[in-house]
Parts: sequence; C-alpha cells; structure tokens
Amino acid sequence: MQPKLIIHGGAGSSLHGKGGVEAVRKSLYSVLEEVYSLLLSGTSAKEAVIRGCQLLEDDPRFNSGTGSVLQSDGQIRMSASLMDGASQCFSGVINVSRVKNPIDLAQFLQSSPDRVLSDSGSAELARELQVPTYDALTDLRLQEWIQERQGNFQKAMAGVVAEPELAEAGSAGRGTIGVVALDTQGRLAAGTSTGGKGFERIGRVSDSAMPAGNYATRNAAVSCTGIGEDIIDECLAAKIVIRVTDGMSLEDAMRRSFIEAEQNKRDLGAIALDVTGAIAWGKTSEVILVAYHDGEKMADTLELPFGMEVGVI
Ligand code: ASP
Repeated sequence: MQPKLIIHGGAGSSLHGKGGVEAVRKSLYSVLEEVYSLLLSGTSAKEAVIRGCQLLEDDPRFNSGTGSVLQSDGQIRMSASLMDGASQCFSGVINVSRVKNPIDLAQFLQSSPDRVLSDSGSAELARELQVPTYDALTDLRLQEWIQERQGNFQKAMAGVVAEPELAEAGSAGRGTIGVVALDTQGRLAAGTSTGGKGFERIGRVSDSAMPAGNYATRNAAVSCTGIGEDIIDECLAAKIVIRVTDGMSLEDAMRRSFIEAEQNKRDLGAIALDVTGAIAWGKTSEVILVAYHDGEKMADTLELPFGMEVGVI
C-alpha cells in the first residue's frame, strides 16, 4: 500500500508575511521528507508518527517541546498523546515539565497498564526512565510572555499560532503539532503534542492528550489543533474517526463535523487519513499550518483564505 502522511503545526489567528510562510513551509516539508522516507522503507505508522512528533517538538517554531508557550504562572507544561489505530490503543501525558520530547513518554505508555499520566505521574515516569532534564524555554517565548503579560494580568490566552506583528517580523508559526500516518501495511496512527494555549490556569488540561484531540482506529486517524475547550466540546477527533469507522466517507465525515463546529462557533482544525489513503484537513480557524505527502508530491494549506475550509485529497 502507498503510504500517506499529513502533519500540522497548529491553527489559529492570521499568518501574514511571506518570510513567515516560507519558513514554516520549509520546517514542515523537511519533516515530511524525513518521515515519508521512513514510511517508504517499511517503518510502521506508529513509529513514523513518533519520529514526526519528535522532529516537530524539537523545532522551536512550534508550540510543543522546545518552544512551548508559557502558562499563566510563567511555567511550561506540555501534553502529548499517541494513538495506534492497529491496536486501537491510546496513551499520553498531561502537563509534563522539563523533558525534551513528551511524545517519548506517550510512546513508553503504549505498553503500560496505566496509559495516561498527569503531571506528577509523568515526572515520576521521566525519572524512572532516566530521561534527562531539559529546559524547553526559548528566548522568544519568554519575551512574548513578558510583553503580553505587562500590565495585563487578565489576559485569557496567547495567540495560538501567530499574531500578525510576529509574522511580519518573520517569526510566524507557533502552534501545537500533530502527525497522522498510513504505512505500507495499511496501519494508521496519530500523535499530537502541545505546550497548551498559553496563559492558561495551572492544571488546565489540553485536548491534545485526550481522544477528543487525537484518535485512531483501523479505519481512520485524526489529530486536532485550536482552542482545546472547543475541540473537547465537539469531541472532534473521536467524532470524525467514529463516523468513518461506522461507514461514512472521510470527506463526508470531515464536512459534517466542520459544519457542526462552525455552527457552534468553534475555533479549531484537524488533519485526517483513512485506510483507503484519503487525506483530509479542515479548519474553522483563520489559518491552519498543514502539509502532506500523497506519495507523489508535498503540498500545504499555508496560503488558504481565512474562514471555514475542508480539503480532501
Ligand atoms: N489544542 C491546544 C490546546 O488547547 C492548543 C493548540 O492546538 O494550539 O491546548
């Protein structure tokens, strides 16, 4: 079977500035190239998703791993999950600090009887696995936090992707990351990793480590991005996957789910694959940073018009 791969670097407010778009495209395409060649050489969808998430977590441009945004108290707490469609097994960590790749903890938990751990449990697991302590803070994130925090302690959240000013300054492209893969054996997997929405209350739980934000079966796999509360209220990833598993086409499942999300005034996006090899993405947010490899070429959604859109390839 021809492998398929789709990845995202978040959704949110506007992304202006050519320098910004080109830089984001370069980052996303280099991940696609590496991970797609793994899939071609027979790597499983699950392993490919883990590698894709690691690469995106390591890219400071995106809001996950290195470059995660700061919460209301100025701390970084990251969440990540992995779902293997072949075994229909979900695992994840919630609000973990001081590790480089939260997806690695989610990977370890795939074969554990306790598969989703919160903050103290994740810290304990990182210690047990002797994961080196890592500071995910970047100068840019610290400056953004200080700047946005100044004289405004009521601010509800940071711009999830890129404020126009930042984009014009050439530093566009913050956002949660996600990877969905279909391997040569026809197996699907999805992974999602985030630093959260920024400025959130301590203890706030992101959709990224819930089936609402990351879900897969043997039939379809989805990773979401956007406002976590909106994604949870729509139960978006699980809803799309279950619609496809129950017999709806991926295109119909995406269109129906995004019409519902739009009607409910949600701010979100998703990437999806099904077992037939269909590739899809959708957004109600202004932009979504998506790129995919269909076996012949790479393409992206970086220059789409604002507003609700669903694309199926
Ligand atoms: N969904 C993430 C959250 O709310 C944020 C994002 O996707 O950018 O935690």
